[in-house]
Amino acid sequence: MTFETLLNQWPEERIEEVQRCCTESRVAAALANEHRSPDDLLALLSPAAVPWLEALAVEANKETRRQFGRTIGLYAPIYLSNVCGSNCVYCSFSTVNAGKEERTTLDDHQIEKECQALSEQGFDNVLLLTGDAVHAAPPEYIARACRIARKWFSSVAVEVYSMTEEEYGLLCDHGLDGVTLYQESFHRPTYMEMHRSGRKRDYASRLEALKRAGRAGVRRLGTGILLGLYKWRIDAFWLGLYGRWLQQQCWHSLVSVSFPRLRHTPSSFVPPYPVSDVDMVQMMLALRLFLPEAPFSLSTRENASFRDRLLPLGITSMSAGSSTRPGGYAFPDSSSLEQFQIEDSRSAAEIKRVIEKAGYDPVWKDYDHAFVSDLTEDLH
Ligand code: SF4
Repeated sequence: MTFETLLNQWPEERIEEVQRCCTESRVAAALANEHRSPDDLLALLSPAAVPWLEALAVEANKETRRQFGRTIGLYAPIYLSNVCGSNCVYCSFSTVNAGKEERTTLDDHQIEKECQALSEQGFDNVLLLTGDAVHAAPPEYIARACRIARKWFSSVAVEVYSMTEEEYGLLCDHGLDGVTLYQESFHRPTYMEMHRSGRKRDYASRLEALKRAGRAGVRRLGTGILLGLYKWRIDAFWLGLYGRWLQQQCWHSLVSVSFPRLRHTPSSFVPPYPVSDVDMVQMMLALRLFLPEAPFSLSTRENASFRDRLLPLGITSMSAGSSTRPGGYAFPDSSSLEQFQIEDSRSAAEIKRVIEKAGYDPVWKDYDHAFVSDLTEDLH
């Protein structure tokens, strides 16, 4: 079954009606269930669950400890390129929001230097990013970047345009093990409104992209919605359904969820559905209870104190010391365009200390070289 078929079984009116009628006793029942159904998720995301946040937090903390122990993974993004051919109204890299800042695509030597700079900080897990521009960063270029990064890091993921199964396979052959691809919003009219032109406008292709990646052998699949684009109670429910669907479709891959909240958007764009800190906490707790085995990630888009407070509530990995411009680590004087300003500018070492102080173990890599030794030998 495609995800769109499943999505059509849960139209917005049905979700809103169930949530409107939800009572506190229904929330209590959802909380007590061991294997939670989509109806339970609706209850946990509903306004009736707001007085229950404390109880949700206790249960979410238990689930997270059971699945992940007391570990928090650390990773960093490497922006390979800020060239983009799409027009997403909320993004500084889009064609229409182009300012005077430099657009650039790192060459092999610069990629190597970025990897070296991050490796020296202790990172062993990186996310390579590009805009949506096949002419500037074709699959062969991204594959080469994976191969370079793999010399420095145990774990290499990409957040790039959606690809074919063959293209994802090519990246796997060059050391890739993770793909992050946010649907941004599952609400099709909103999606079309926010993505005005370019390849990213293809809603249906994006919806199936992570399944293609899983079929190509990608071990880690990361999804999420861009918080602020649409009503969070609706989109978060669809995100939960999507996470489960992906787990079933790609049972050999690990499905993770991120919570990017829109901030520092271009002046021409105001997020139509702002998400408060309390909203975000309820969403994370509800999704943790619905997808207990999914790693949850929180980036430096969020400020330091909020990130620190979320540590016990279900987060299992964090970015740290991030730059959102190409060359941001090895060439800090670079004037290239950044995608967005980060809120938490603490160094990786500082975040490591905060994690330890909170009683957690910072983890720099996802898994040991031994698991991928054959591949590693081939690549080196
Ligand atoms: S969100 Fe991605 S595809 Fe859209 S404009 Fe920004 S970089 Fe390009």
